[in-house]
Order: sequence, then C-alpha cells, then structure tokens
Amino acid sequence: MKRGGERDGLWQVRHKEEKGQNIEEEEKEMMNGKDGLLVIDMQNDFCPGGALPVEEGDVIVAVINQLMKHFSVVVATQDWHPANHKSFAPMHQGKEPYDVIELHGNEQVMWPEHCIQGTQGADLHKELDTREVCAIFRKGMNTEVDSYSGFRDNSKESITGLDGYLKALGIERIHLAGLATDYCVYYTGMDGIRNGYGVTMILDATRGIDVPPGSMQGKLSEFQSKGGKIAKSSDYALR
Ligand SMILES: [Zn+2]
Repeated sequence: MKRGGERDGLWQVRHKEEKGQNIEEEEKEMMNGKDGLLVIDMQNDFCPGGALPVEEGDVIVAVINQLMKHFSVVVATQDWHPANHKSFAPMHQGKEPYDVIELHGNEQVMWPEHCIQGTQGADLHKELDTREVCAIFRKGMNTEVDSYSGFRDNSKESITGLDGYLKALGIERIHLAGLATDYCVYYTGMDGIRNGYGVTMILDATRGIDVPPGSMQGKLSEFQSKGGKIAKSSDYALR
C-alpha cells in the first residue's frame, strides 16, 4: 500500500440535493493521497454488550472495513480512560449516568464507566480490520477532563498530536466513521474544520447515541452549518 501517495482511479461521488431530488454524480471529486479516513472509537464498550453501548454500533464495522480500502491513510482513535476518570458517574456522589454536571467550568455528561485502559471494553472491535490502520491516537487519559475530539481534550488545553500527524502526511481532507455520531465523531469533525481540513462524515459508517434526545439532529445541523459534508459509504466507489 502506498502511504501518503496517490491511489489511482479512486473517486468519491457526492450527492447533491436539488429540488428535493438526489442527483447522482453531480459533483465528482477525486480521492487521492490528501484524503484520510478517521475511525473514531470503534471499541467494544461502545458496541452492544459493552458498558456504554450505541445501538447498532457493531453494524458499522463491516462498512468501515470496506471504506478503508479507498484510503492510503487510515487513523483510529481510542477512548482510553484511567479507572477513576471524572466523566464516570460513580465518581460523583448522587449522580446517575446521563446526568449533566459542571466539571472545571465545562458541561460534562456523566457516563457509565467505560473504555478503562487495558480492559477488553477498551479494545478495538475484534472484527475491525486493523491491518489498514496506520496509527492509533488515544484520548481521555487525563482524569480531570473528558476528550470527545480525536484532536484535543474538551477543555481545549491538550492536544493528541493527530493534527500534526495528518499534516505531516499531507492530508487535507478527512472522512469520519465510527462512534458515536453526536459525540466523538461530531467533535472530531468540528475540530477538523477548525484545523483547516475539508471534513466529510460518512453517516452510515457511524451510529449515534442521541443523548439528550435531539442531540443527533442538532449536532448534524451544526456540523453542516460550519461547512462539514455528509456522505454515505456507497459514495466511495472504485472506478
Ligand atoms: Zn469516554
């Protein structure tokens, strides 16, 4: 596989809404070595049977494995918490999962304990084809602050190095898949836009948690209003 170089003949077909109709091949954009796939938090705890399951979270693994074939650069992120992480509800007396508190000035959803470092729940899903993954960026390791974005923590104080890695490889456009649409995928996408990338969310390669209800729609609207694009996995085709 070529890293950071061009793969020949790969195209992305974008669909454009026009008068309520999907017009195929309205806009074609060649995918090349400037495109990178980010696989967000595709971990056991976020799949059915895990500690913080996203409905159908496991269904997207096969979709992501197919998508990887279209990219020279594939990066994964991994939520990777110490056991006493402050995003965990049991760390706060009287708090239940999904309550919202203020933590060091930031709004913080109380999550069930999840993705604890070194546990099976924190492992990437066993069916995810990690042979195509160039690098894994871990986040959420500081007990005091949560980290939804693959680029930096929620307090915006410390970065993961993902931005420098992508820029060193000449990546200009990032394509997002993984879990959960309205949290780690969304926040990674928004930081991607802020960091100057063209950002596309491959919607059927993600699943959302929709907590609180309406979170999915609100976040998708916000993402698009900032220039983020929505695509589907079938838009990525060999030609
Ligand atoms: Zn987490």
